[in-house]
Amino acid sequence: MHVHIAGNGTGGTGCWIRPQGWRWPLAALMLKHMGLPINTLHGDLDRLYVERLLHFVRESSLGAVVILPHEQVYDDHGCVIEGFGSLYVPNDYVLKLARQYPEFLPAVSIHPARADAMEELERCLAEGAVIMKCLPNSQNIDCNNPRYTRFWERMAEAGLPLLAHTGGEHTVPVVRSELADPRVLELPLQCGVTIIAAHSGTKSGLFDPDYFRVFVEMTKRYPRLYGDISAFNIPIRGRHIPECLQEPLVHRMLHGSDFPVPVFGHWSWLRGYIDWQTFRKWERHPNPLERDYRLKKAMGFPDETFTRIAQLLRPASFPLKAMSKHEEVFTKS
Ligand SMILES: [Zn+2]
Repeated sequence: MHVHIAGNGTGGTGCWIRPQGWRWPLAALMLKHMGLPINTLHGDLDRLYVERLLHFVRESSLGAVVILPHEQVYDDHGCVIEGFGSLYVPNDYVLKLARQYPEFLPAVSIHPARADAMEELERCLAEGAVIMKCLPNSQNIDCNNPRYTRFWERMAEAGLPLLAHTGGEHTVPVVRSELADPRVLELPLQCGVTIIAAHSGTKSGLFDPDYFRVFVEMTKRYPRLYGDISAFNIPIRGRHIPECLQEPLVHRMLHGSDFPVPVFGHWSWLRGYIDWQTFRKWERHPNPLERDYRLKKAMGFPDETFTRIAQLLRPASFPLKAMSKHEEVFTKS
C-alpha cells in the first residue's frame, strides 16, 4: 500500500520531477535500484518507470500494489507555493494506470486547502480511489486545521483511509518539519478517518526527531490508527522493528515497500534481526519488491502484516483477479 509513481511528463502524463542539490544522487540511486540508467531522468521516464514497476509486481509474491500520486505544495489559503516540491504526479495519471492494469490500485492525493478540494475528492471517489496520500511536513498540510474538518468527515463517510507521512523526510524537501509529528493526525482521527502513519513516526536521518513512541501511544487511544513498515530496509528507520513485532502493536502494522526507495538487508543483519544465510539469500534477489517482502518475513512479520490492508482499503470496484495470490483474504472481506 505504499508504492510511488514518478515521471517527467514525456509520456504526456502531466508529471514533473526536479530533484534539487544533493537529491540528484538520491534520484540516481533510486533509478539504479530499478535497473534504469541515470539519463532516464531526462529520457522516456514515464513509460520505463511503469514498465519496470509492473514487471517487479508481476514477478513478486504481491497480489497488487497501491500506487501513489504526489500533490503540489499549497499555502494555507489554497494557492500553489511555486518553486517548492521536487515532484508532481497528478491523480488522473494514477487513476488511469489503475484502470489499465489490475496490479495497480489507485491512491489519490489532494491538499485540503485547495479551493476545489471537496470537488476533487468527490471526483476521485467516483473514479475508484482506495486511499488518500499526503505528506503533511512536505506539502504544508496541518491536518488539525479546523477548516479541514468537512474534508476529513467526507473521507470517513466514504471509507477512504488516509496514508500520511510521519517522521523525517529526505527524499523530497520539507516545508514544515514540526508536521512530521503523528499528533498532526488527531483531527482526522477524531473525525473517524482510518489512518496509516507511513513509517510509523520513525526517523529517516540521523538528526531527525524520532516520533515512534508518540505513534505507539496514539495507537492506544485511536483504534483506527495503523502504521506502515515502508522503507524499514534503509539504515535508520528499521531500529524499532523488534517493538513493531510485539503484542499488541503487531496487529496495527502494515507492509508498505516505499518503492523506489532502495532495499538493503545489511542493517537488519547487523542488528541481528536476520541471520547471515537469510541476508545473503535475499540481498542478491534482483526484484526489490520481493527482496523487501522476504527480508521483512524473515524478521518475523506475520502474514497478516501483508494482507491486513485488504480490510482497510476503500471497497472500490477494483478487479479482484489481480488478488488471486491472496484470494482467501478478499473472499473474507
Ligand atoms: Zn513514501
